Amino acid sequence: MNDTVADLSSNVELTDDQALALAECRDLSRLMHAAAARRDVAHGDIVSYSRKVFVPLTQLCRDVCHYCTFAQAPAQDKPPYLTIDAVLEIARAGQAAQCKEVLFTLGDKPELRYPAARRALQRLGHETTLSYLAEAANAVLTETGLLPHVNPGCMTVLDLAALRRVSIDSVSPGGRIMDRPTRCRPPGWRRSAWPASAVFRSRPGS
Ligand code: SF4
Repeated sequence: MNDTVADLSSNVELTDDQALALAECRDLSRLMHAAAARRDVAHGDIVSYSRKVFVPLTQLCRDVCHYCTFAQAPAQDKPPYLTIDAVLEIARAGQAAQCKEVLFTLGDKPELRYPAARRALQRLGHETTLSYLAEAANAVLTETGLLPHVNPGCMTVLDLAALRRVSIDSVSPGGRIMDRPTRCRPPGWRRSAWPASAVFRSRPGS
């Protein structure tokens, strides 16, 4: 183990076994220092980031995650979806502020829960939120040149393929255990009763 930690500091490529062995290291302080040294060898003191503007395409969501502060119920005075013009207006404001990325935030398939969402999508010429998202992302890409980054919840392989054509990233790192195969779910799982302490996602609308 000690040798593996030493190798970590020197930026030597670790074998799979060495990398796995790090999980057994109980000397956290030494491990952290070795990891920091490896980071410094590779990247120096450069910290990169992508300046982005958030576009809440819809705050409706079929889910009820109790920790969520993003999702809202339909309201009379608020359209269920941003129009393409509204999306572009936000994107251009971001562009003026030197943003490079447009991050679409939205709930998960609200049309499966809310008639208001279905009606709104119909008016917009779409059957699904994901289809409308693809149109919005494409509009941003072609009209502003900013990079669309989408964060739409559950997707099929076809959804992924469609969104990858118009965005830089179609997969949220905050994977949703709720929609993974049943073997991943805890006993007694029920979507609407998901406890606030069970935070499996890092961003609202993700
Ligand atoms: S965290 Fe995401 S999936 Fe859960 S209610 Fe909020 S918007 Fe919907």
